[in-house]
Amino acid sequence: MQIGFIGLGNMGAPMAANLAAAGHSVSGFDPVGDYPDGVTQVVSARLACENAEVVFLMLPNGAIVRSVSEDILPVMIKGAILLDCSTIDVATSEYVYQTARDVGVSALDAPVSGGIKGAADGKLTFMVGGSVEGFAKSQHLFDIMGNKTVHCGKAGAGQAAKLCNNMILGITMSGTCEAFALADKLGLDRQKLYDVVSTSSGYSWSMNAYCPAPGVGPVSPADNDYAPGFAAELMLKDLRLSQQAATLVDADTPMGQAVCELYENFIEKGDGLGKDFSALLPFFADRGRTI
Ligand code: NAD
Repeated sequence: MQIGFIGLGNMGAPMAANLAAAGHSVSGFDPVGDYPDGVTQVVSARLACENAEVVFLMLPNGAIVRSVSEDILPVMIKGAILLDCSTIDVATSEYVYQTARDVGVSALDAPVSGGIKGAADGKLTFMVGGSVEGFAKSQHLFDIMGNKTVHCGKAGAGQAAKLCNNMILGITMSGTCEAFALADKLGLDRQKLYDVVSTSSGYSWSMNAYCPAPGVGPVSPADNDYAPGFAAELMLKDLRLSQQAATLVDADTPMGQAVCELYENFIEKGDGLGKDFSALLPFFADRGRTI
C-alpha cells in the first residue's frame, strides 16, 4: 500500500520502519525526526499524503494533530484512511473524525500502549475508535506494528480506553510506591513486601512487572537509576488528558485527580523531570507525612 507517515519521533520512526520492512511504500515527514531505513523522506506533510491510501499520525499532542489534519485532509484522496496513533484528547479525535468525513476520508483514533520497545519489536497494543469498515481495512497494518488490536467503539473510543488505562496505571504505581515507602518506615524488607503482594490481592502490573523498588522483582527502570522507561512527564500528560475528559463529561475521578496533582508536584517541585514514572518511590521515601 501507499502509506504516508507524519511524526517520526521515538514511536513513529520504528512504527514506520516496520511498515516499510513489511513491503509497504512509506513516505514520511517530520521536521526534525530520524528517517528510518526504507522510509522515503519528503519535504512536507501534504507531499507524504497526497497519493496515500492510508496516512498515520504519531504526534506529540492534540493541537498539532488538529493543525496537521487540517493541512493534509484537503489533499488526501477520497476513500483514504487517516489513522491517528498519537495520545490526545477525545474532543480533538472527534473533531478530526468529523472534518475527515466531510471530505470523504475515514478517520480512526488508534492510540497505542507498549512504549518504545513495543514499537521497535512490533508488539504494540492498538485501541481503536471509528467505523467498523475503516477498522477492518486497517487491521492488517496494525498487525504489522502490534500484537493486539481492540476496536473500542465510535470515534474517540480508542483515546477513551487509553486515558482510562493510564489513569489506572498512574493510580496503581502511586499506590505501590506509597506501600514500599510505608514498609520502609515500618521496618519491613522490600523484597518480603514484593514476595507477599505479588501473589496477594494487592498485586498489579506496577508491582509484578514493573516493580519500582531497585533489585526487587523483574528488571525495571528502578534498576537503571530510574532512567525512563515511561517518563514521568508522559504519565502527567496522560493524567491531565484523563482529567480534562472527566471534566468534560462530569465524571467523578478523585483518585485520578489526586495522582495527577502528585505527578505535577513530582515534576515541577521534585526532581521527577526526565525520570521514569516509577521514581515516585524515592520521592515518597525521602519525605515524611505531608497530609
Ligand atoms: P516524540 O516527541 O519522540 O515524537 C513526536 C514527533 O512529532 C517528533 O519527531 C516531532 O518532530 C514530530 N512533529 C511535531 N510536530 C510535527 C508536525 N507539525 N509535522 C510533522 N511532525 C511533527 O514523541 P513519541 O514518544 O514518539 O510519542 C508520540 C505520541 O505517542 C505521543 O502522543 C505520545 O503521548 C504517544 N505515546 C508515546 C509512548 C512512549 O513511550 N514514548 C507510548 C505510548 C504513546
